[in-house]
Amino acid sequence: MMAHPDDAEILCAGTMIRLRDLGWEIHIATATRGDCGTISHSAEQISAIRSLEAERAASIIGGTWHTLDSKDGKVCYDPPTLEKAYDLFRRVAPGLVFTHPPRDYMMDHEMTSHICRAVSFLYAAPNISSLPLIPGSSVPYLYYCDPVEGIDPLGNPVQPATLVDVTNQMELKTQMLAAHASQREWLRAHHGMDEYIDSMKRFSADRGKLMGTQYAEGFIQHRGHPYPTDDILKRCSLISSTGVSPVFLKLIRKHASHRVLPKGQGEAECLAQSAKSPRNGGITRHWIPKFSRTPPA
Ligand SMILES: [Zn+2]
Repeated sequence: MMAHPDDAEILCAGTMIRLRDLGWEIHIATATRGDCGTISHSAEQISAIRSLEAERAASIIGGTWHTLDSKDGKVCYDPPTLEKAYDLFRRVAPGLVFTHPPRDYMMDHEMTSHICRAVSFLYAAPNISSLPLIPGSSVPYLYYCDPVEGIDPLGNPVQPATLVDVTNQMELKTQMLAAHASQREWLRAHHGMDEYIDSMKRFSADRGKLMGTQYAEGFIQHRGHPYPTDDILKRCSLISSTGVSPVFLKLIRKHASHRVLPKGQGEAECLAQSAKSPRNGGITRHWIPKFSRTPPA
């Protein structure tokens, strides 16, 4: 869940592609439709254009796009927005969530981060939404993407804790970002070069240098109570660019041994299972995970 159409494509699309390839279902949600991303259209016109672009970008990897329908520059941590976000989480029941870091270059990003944190914590509480609970709904893995340009609002560099190699995903990630044609053209006209795509690649290359690959995406995991604290992305990055590493296969077999899995589904099932299983030893006594893992009939 990000603030604006194109934020996910810039900050975490490569990782989403890798997860998609492992069998994860992909949903991209934006707080707004990007109604201020223009100098020539009305808010209604550009919202319609950017909604189509966001849908197209998500569909490139078989994902579904959602929006909370907030307005650019006015994303609020308030009851109406939270209710929309709770309902969205109830419909999707995410096992792994990406959002902006709590401190970022603009307030829409920070508010979206707070909304996402709040909603991931409590969406599985029966009374928080009138929508039915999908069995297995529980507190998901939560990761903060890099802040824009890798710096906090005071200009301090932010060091990612988890890096995911997205070198082999860069072509598809670029296609996803290019689907936001209205933004690309605007910047191209303004800068006289393809800054929209180029700046994404430059930043991904900077992150790649931190792990010795051509391109990477950086994350910091939210590890506060009662979130899962093992680094599920780190396990994803054990997969080599040409296939599944022996270490990861061993892990998959260990986790998947209690059930029969469709051929080729082991990796995805392993991660999906990991996302759903109680793992915070001792925490199950806490009321949130307890009721969220055993939803009422
Ligand atoms: Zn944004």
